[in-house]
Amino acid sequence: MKTHKLLIVDDDEMIGKTIKTVAELCNFHVIYTDSAMMFFEQLALFKPDVIVVDLILPNVDGMQLIKKLVELNSKAKLVIISGAGKRVVNSSALSAQEQGMDILGVLNKPFRTAEIRQLLSNYTKLALTEAKLGRSLNGPATNSWFPTVDELQHALDNDLITVQFQPQISSQTELLVGFEALARWHDEEHGAVKPDYFIQLAERTHLIDKLLVCVFNQALAWFADLQDRHENKSPLALHLEPANLSLSVNLSVINLYNDELPEELLACCEEHGVAASSVVFELTESAAMENPTQMLDSLTRLRLSGFGLSIDDFGTGYSSLIQLARLPFSELKVDQSFVATATESNESRAVVRSVVDLAKSLDLTSVAEGVETEAQARYLKEIGCNVLQGFYIAKPMSIDDCDQWIKTYYGAKEDQRLKALRALNLINTQNEARFDRLTQLAQRLFNISISTLTLIEEKTVWLKSNAGDAAVELEREHSFCAQALGFQDVFIVNDASTHERFSDNPHVVAEDGVRFYAGCPLQLRSGERIGTLCIADSKTRTFSDQEKLVLKELASLMEEELEVIPDLDIDKRTGLFNRRAVESRARGILRMAAHGNLSVTMLLIDIANFHAFNDEYGQRTGDLVLKELAESLNTNFRRCDTIGRFGGDKFIVLMVNAHNDSVQSVDAILERLQADINTGINPKLATGERQINIFVGSSSVEKMHSSEFYDLLYEAEMSLNRSRYGQID
Ligand code: C2E
Ligand code: CA
Ligand code: CA
Repeated sequence: MKTHKLLIVDDDEMIGKTIKTVAELCNFHVIYTDSAMMFFEQLALFKPDVIVVDLILPNVDGMQLIKKLVELNSKAKLVIISGAGKRVVNSSALSAQEQGMDILGVLNKPFRTAEIRQLLSNYTKLALTEAKLGRSLNGPATNSWFPTVDELQHALDNDLITVQFQPQISSQTELLVGFEALARWHDEEHGAVKPDYFIQLAERTHLIDKLLVCVFNQALAWFADLQDRHENKSPLALHLEPANLSLSVNLSVINLYNDELPEELLACCEEHGVAASSVVFELTESAAMENPTQMLDSLTRLRLSGFGLSIDDFGTGYSSLIQLARLPFSELKVDQSFVATATESNESRAVVRSVVDLAKSLDLTSVAEGVETEAQARYLKEIGCNVLQGFYIAKPMSIDDCDQWIKTYYGAKEDQRLKALRALNLINTQNEARFDRLTQLAQRLFNISISTLTLIEEKTVWLKSNAGDAAVELEREHSFCAQALGFQDVFIVNDASTHERFSDNPHVVAEDGVRFYAGCPLQLRSGERIGTLCIADSKTRTFSDQEKLVLKELASLMEEELEVIPDLDIDKRTGLFNRRAVESRARGILRMAAHGNLSVTMLLIDIANFHAFNDEYGQRTGDLVLKELAESLNTNFRRCDTIGRFGGDKFIVLMVNAHNDSVQSVDAILERLQADINTGINPKLATGERQINIFVGSSSVEKMHSSEFYDLLYEAEMSLNRSRYGQID
């Protein structure tokens, strides 16, 4: 026997019939109609227990239909279907609920039959329990509470609306980058009220501006004080520079109709001493696109006040590229629904990836919301989504819980970091040429007194490679590098003597103390940050964006150097880089030179008739020649040059900005090498004197634009051939 009655209204016959079939299988007696008129006829006659309503019907607006149901005092449970997006369906459901309808659930098109089955089975179960309890299921709802305007007003006046914070982290560095503030209303009698609900209530009743100011002020108070609360609790304080963190706050579109909004929000910031640039306002895509021309004005004013602007729930609205490019947003937030299904659904993955790409091409920060699993986080990192937010990182938390979470999160990160650093076995070990080459290069390129590779231990900073003259070991507490560790990329102090944090630092107040500092964190492939590549000087100095880029490139070369297995890179006979190693180093150098518009010179050095020499004097003597040449290369070139054995009797040298150092001419170098090798080798030859001839080919680019290793190599080969065979061009 069919026990329950279901009435459907949907103009899409396919959908109507599908629901009918599923419901009948679930033991429902079903009537399907495709127009509002027929629906109301059936309503009176059939007296359904459950009603399924499509929000979009020809000639009637679904909301009107629901209103009429209310007027008719229908006690049926309601299921709302729509293809207009989750928010629209949810808000209609809330509004219906508010008017006294009982909502069984919502179905977003396209939905699966399993979802219908689930809803109907929920109903069946509910009906069963209610029957046992002897109550009528279709009586007035007793379990949900819908506050009134007065109650909301009361809550606002009595600080009953609070704020929770949900952390956001960088996908690349896993450092905290910000928090989203989310409004909460906990009613003593009725428990938590869903934000979706009271925000809509506030929007309809002109309380939304009050709500915004209430949320914003609480969030600012917490945020402004964040660093102080964690101050001196090294290493936590180091990562909580306000400059590195943002505070995101949700805006309602109604807020934007208030012309005084930017001034009011700026006043709040001023009161709490938080820079507008630290604040990001989020607006949903559908809201922003409701009236893009009107929005443009309000949003531009907010942006001009210095606030960041984010499009929330991106992917669910219908913005055109043109509109998007025109509105002054600084951030795109991929909607949770795509993130949640990104690892299973090809379509979701396509949406997520294109939103991230879009953000990249419009130079906006991309944020993924609703990240719940490690697999999702990994995927998002892989496609270059900048920021992650979701339960996988942390749920929204009260102020106290959030402070505790920060401590725990960084505590765990610090442990991981130290473990990774110690595993490298680089502390308290000898200097290594592979690191010195890069610190020397930094020193020369920036023409600066100090350039160091630092490794940051629990309490100490080790200067692993030190191109200038500074101590070998510093206290972490006073170290600039320990601060740099918390920055996304390069941390710059132009004049430490006037810097809030460093003006009384012992390294600054000392005679000839530090004035300028720039440090780039070094991160292992596994994600841990173990130290910095930094430069410093006792004179103040400005640092251009291009210089910053060069330092970042050098740091990435250093990162590679930290993780190589040195034994695999070194040629046993000469102690120089082997071919593979020198080629990979050269590529890195060329990339950096291209970014910094630096000049590069490549030299190819070849020993003439080395085969014949080997045949005549034997392999061991041949090896001596190679060794002698390697030694001579090491002394005749700068320690910042990249030198390698490029093949049997061929060597390669790569020099950056050699002209600045007035490096000797190619001919002069050749002469020196030749002299060195002959004076070195001849006493060791058992039989008489022997002249070893060396040829050099060179190629160079004044200002590197592209960074093709093989172009440069080809030129050098040609030049070598000319010198060897005496060809004239
Ligand atoms: P929203 O701005 O999209 O906020 C994100 C929502 O997703 C929050 O719900 C958050 O708790 C939830 N969430 C975060 N991570 C995850 C996750 O990994 N999985 C899942 N399933 N959910 C996650 P909440 O706090 O219920 O807020 C709902 C909406 O209410 C917000 O959506 C926002 O539109 C609105 N809202 C909240 N606070 C305010 C406010 O102060 N002002 C305004 N105008 N709207 C607010
Ligand atoms: Ca939001
Ligand atoms: Ca959202």
